[in-house]
Amino acid sequence: MTSNGARVAWALLVVAGICGALADRVPTRPPIVAGGYRVLSVDFHTHSAFWSDGALSPFGLVMEASRQGLDAIAITGHNQVSDAKAGRWFSERIGGPTVIVGQELLGAGHHVIAVGTEQQIDLPTVTAQVAEVHRQGGVAIVAHPMKEFWPSFTNAVKDQLDGSEICHPLVYSNPKAQPTFEEFREGHNLAAIGSSDFHGLGRMGICRTYVFTNENTAAAIVDAVRARRTVVYGPNGATYGDPQLAALIVHRPELRAIATTDAPASGLDWVSRTSGVMGLGLVLLTNPRRRRRARGVTDGL
Ligand SMILES: [Zn+2]
Ligand SMILES: [Zn+2]
Repeated sequence: MTSNGARVAWALLVVAGICGALADRVPTRPPIVAGGYRVLSVDFHTHSAFWSDGALSPFGLVMEASRQGLDAIAITGHNQVSDAKAGRWFSERIGGPTVIVGQELLGAGHHVIAVGTEQQIDLPTVTAQVAEVHRQGGVAIVAHPMKEFWPSFTNAVKDQLDGSEICHPLVYSNPKAQPTFEEFREGHNLAAIGSSDFHGLGRMGICRTYVFTNENTAAAIVDAVRARRTVVYGPNGATYGDPQLAALIVHRPELRAIATTDAPASGLDWVSRTSGVMGLGLVLLTNPRRRRRARGVTDGL
């Protein structure tokens, strides 16, 4: 790692870190309490750059979650839990948001978010995956159920699931997404889940889920999803989830606003993210082990 490229890469990552720290505006706000519940802002679907295809490290995800006023996030790498555990370790040390260990289970015709699972799940069918999620004490949520994913989810499978994404950034770019997500869950008692599927672009926390619970812990959040105690706001004034719970926070219009508005990033955010992404890309390109692997040389690991 002595090339100029590597030095430039590390310099960009340092710039990203400094700009991220300068731009960091962690909001301090009192907990939201309604109807005897603590109402948590949760993003159930985020990707990091470690072992997944996001742009930020798991630690960057934790900092971004704080900045977006999220009480909790699930880090959901593809079929693995390592980056979620790294993020949880970091957040516990800085007093950051609750990090729930999760994974996005990719199958031939489906994506399922497993939340509250400590062990990696690597099984061939959606039925087996969902059973394993439950065995581990987690909840299974269908991710972005566009029509091409529907064949995997028979009625029998839907009855085993805990929730489905009813809001996802796709609803703001594809006019078919919202009615498709609504139709998918018709006739099934699935928790309403909103999530950003954050990979580094867009805004973490858009489409967030309001979870009605007693405390801000991973176990309490998973329990609340299992009990369908969630509310999600979608485009055009739509509200999803338990109507009685939604009525408890109807007098808080700022909760809808932050869940449905993609606020523009500040200049420092832009510099931080761009240099972070470029730096990471250069680190990967200049990584000697990766270069050897690309040439077909086995390094014995
Ligand atoms: Zn997906
Ligand atoms: Zn995803």
